[in-house]
Amino acid sequence: RQRPAYRGRFAPSPTGLLHFGSLVAAVASYLDARSADGAWIVRMEDIDRPREVPGSADAIVHALGRLGFEWNESIVRQSARTVLYEAALEQLLAQGMAYPCSCSRSEILAAVVDSATGDDLRYPGWCRDGVRAPERQLAYRFRAPPGPVAFDDGIQGLISVDVSAEIGDFVIRRRDELFAYQLAVVVDDADQGITHVVRGADLLDSTPRQILLQRCLALPTPTYAHLPVATDSHGVKLSKSAGAAAVDLDHPGRELWRALQFLRQGPPAELREADPATLWNWAMGQWRLEPLRRIRSAEAPVG
Ligand code: GLU
Repeated sequence: RQRPAYRGRFAPSPTGLLHFGSLVAAVASYLDARSADGAWIVRMEDIDRPREVPGSADAIVHALGRLGFEWNESIVRQSARTVLYEAALEQLLAQGMAYPCSCSRSEILAAVVDSATGDDLRYPGWCRDGVRAPERQLAYRFRAPPGPVAFDDGIQGLISVDVSAEIGDFVIRRRDELFAYQLAVVVDDADQGITHVVRGADLLDSTPRQILLQRCLALPTPTYAHLPVATDSHGVKLSKSAGAAAVDLDHPGRELWRALQFLRQGPPAELREADPATLWNWAMGQWRLEPLRRIRSAEAPVG
């Protein structure tokens, strides 16, 4: 069976209920896929078991259903895919592109947090040429090659980051033996044949790390478009951890209308109380990324 030319995805982490910020990513990735006659896949990124909120994976899927999303294929869960991540780690180790690391977060922070700005600086590479304390629980880091990594984002334009200089060798498997998001997302996007990634600009600085991993693992790089991050009226990103309100499932059409408004699609006022099917129908024919060009963050419209 031939796979469609466009395969998009929505990849929520089950760390709480669906809130407006994640709804925006779901709506934009869905419209971008469907308006290109593409497939749209939901992947549950439940790799970080300690951060998982029980019941939230099911609640997110239920919310997507109420909002009228229709996904292709069955929902994949990262927690069931450890063998794939293990194989990727083995491959990087065999290539000398990954190494074990005994450094704890507190040791690194004590040495690298900039006392003036409080910012994390790059990992200093203490275990790069041999693990310092092999008797400890070990993490694995990716050996970031020097030089800038550039890509042309569908919304944000040309982005270039020198991962090696700015972030340093980053963790791909944690000391608690859980695989890191950066590795899992790269393996899954490739395994699921994802051609287009539409997600929040909070992940913009992860993308160069993911591109480096794709190159080393000989995996294709999808097309990326990073959406403005939804904030509250103080400019603070809406997030589950900051207690953002769950999407109101008693008024799914109203929530979709707000998302379309946030996405600068110009939903007509008379569709404000419309049902999801009507809104999807309208939005499908209108969808454009251009109005979002270069917007990194924007305030969520009031409900
Ligand atoms: N699971 C990530 C999140 O919820 C999104 C990953 C992605 O879209 O690449 O923030």
